[in-house]
Amino acid sequence: TATLATGLNKTRRTWSERWNAFMANFRSVDEDFFEELEETLIGADVGAQTAFDLTAQLRDEVKLKNAKSKSEVSKVVVDALVAHYQAQGVNEDATMHFADEGPTVILFVGVNGVGKTTTIGKMAARYKAEGKKVILAAADTFRAGATQQLQAWGERDGVEVIAGAANVDPASVVYDGVRAAIEQQADVLFVDTAGRLQNNVNLMQELAKMKRIIARELPSEPQEVLLVLDSTTGQNALQQAKLFKDSTDVTGIVLTKLDGTAKGGIILPIRNELHLPVKWIGLGEGVMDLQVFDADDFAKSLFG
Ligand code: GDP
Repeated sequence: TATLATGLNKTRRTWSERWNAFMANFRSVDEDFFEELEETLIGADVGAQTAFDLTAQLRDEVKLKNAKSKSEVSKVVVDALVAHYQAQGVNEDATMHFADEGPTVILFVGVNGVGKTTTIGKMAARYKAEGKKVILAAADTFRAGATQQLQAWGERDGVEVIAGAANVDPASVVYDGVRAAIEQQADVLFVDTAGRLQNNVNLMQELAKMKRIIARELPSEPQEVLLVLDSTTGQNALQQAKLFKDSTDVTGIVLTKLDGTAKGGIILPIRNELHLPVKWIGLGEGVMDLQVFDADDFAKSLFG
């Protein structure tokens, strides 16, 4: 079981190394300090503009709060990061939405390898443990092995997986999944989709088709479209997020592989530039390594 602290151990270590090396040189809050702080933030992938803005803001705050010691300064920085994250999200809703009646549909999108299937496996186990009836639909019919991988998770979790033959239209698997969810009165249907980025128009059309089918069989469109991003890819993840956001209505982000990276700062530009709430974070390959995202805990585990 990964708690946030242990799951982020590797992240924390790399961050701590950076942060400690930075703070080891700490003598006083002078211009060198702020320049190095800015570089440290850029290194954590918060984005150049955000690093610049945050550092400018911290120049004032450190003075205002009269922070002088290492720990005082550290606290001001952590608080500023959390406040910065939260300030950008005033109109965003980071909770998961469920259907008033009938099955809730959660669509998972993202490029290959980011951790979609793994996230579905973990989340399905979690909702099942909460007493929900869960069904999985393997609508990534293009990647060899994707269906088998989801089926393996289905077996592990003890939940049914709806699949089609290789290369069938993913929309037909979505249809079968929705019908099965209705007939079996499932609470949640998870849909694993193919993340082909080569062609933006295709991606958009494919996702639109899936949504149409869902809205035709059920009272509404999917309650959630979760975009899965690999945090270790840094700025690439941001590019992917832009593309998917332009292709469909993304309702939230799952940020994976935070157990192995010092680049968790990508959370800030995701929020600031794209205004997408991070809803879940992945902290490992195991079934328990998925957590609801909490900005405060997150910043504290990185700097605390
Ligand atoms: P998909 O192609 O998007 O469905 O990605 P997969 O679910 O197949 O994941 C790709 C690889 O990333 C697999 O080896 C997973 O075990 C691994 N993975 C997924 N999430 C995490 C995570 O949070 N931490 C780590 N360390 N590995 C992960």
